[in-house]
Amino acid sequence: MIEANKPAPEVPRYREFCWQCRRPKDLCLCPTIPPMPTRTRIVLLMHPMEWKHEKCNTGRLTCLNLANSEIIPGLCFDDNPRYRALVDDPANYPVLLYPGKTAFDLSTGGFPAAELGSRQLVVFLIDSTWACAKAILRESPGLLTLPCVKFTPTVLSRYIIKRQPAPICLSTIEATHELLLALEHSGLDSYPDKERLLAAFFAMRDYQLERIGVDRNPRRKTKILQQPAP
Ligand SMILES: [Zn+2]
Repeated sequence: MIEANKPAPEVPRYREFCWQCRRPKDLCLCPTIPPMPTRTRIVLLMHPMEWKHEKCNTGRLTCLNLANSEIIPGLCFDDNPRYRALVDDPANYPVLLYPGKTAFDLSTGGFPAAELGSRQLVVFLIDSTWACAKAILRESPGLLTLPCVKFTPTVLSRYIIKRQPAPICLSTIEATHELLLALEHSGLDSYPDKERLLAAFFAMRDYQLERIGVDRNPRRKTKILQQPAP
């Protein structure tokens, strides 16, 4: 028998889902304006773990906002057909974003632009946690035979959800923003809309913070680790 004053049990409602940005449709982060063109091709080498945790992955958001970009998922890239096609194309100048000792520092204009000539600069970024990045480098020894580039970040990470090994470590979308700033500084590219990637990033961060507030599941491991940078 149903008690008269007892409220009817809530029927769970399922929200429509956007398969592009992997979010509920009403919180979709897909850009409403066309992706931004760049001269440089940005290629994210995405660890399978990162591919799986797509909701808090900023790599996908990065590529939704950049016309000349793509994601290659995987762990062993040396023989990956798409990776090989980009590296072996004589019209490309492939480099790895990696802060090795011999890396060209784009922030100080250290890249030999004359060597690039008419070739397209292709920057590979490893999109994963630092532990998984080590696994990618171990399984893909060819990556470190590419010329490496680095930059000096202009700000600390604004990512307060995902654990970064040090405040200086950036999320993929922040790293791409800093990379584009450094490429422009080096005269290798132009970066007309400097707010765009950060705006997308902040929207995603705010969405995640909102979810933490809503979801009280004690098993959820996400924690707020530090205060946002001003
Ligand atoms: Zn979307």
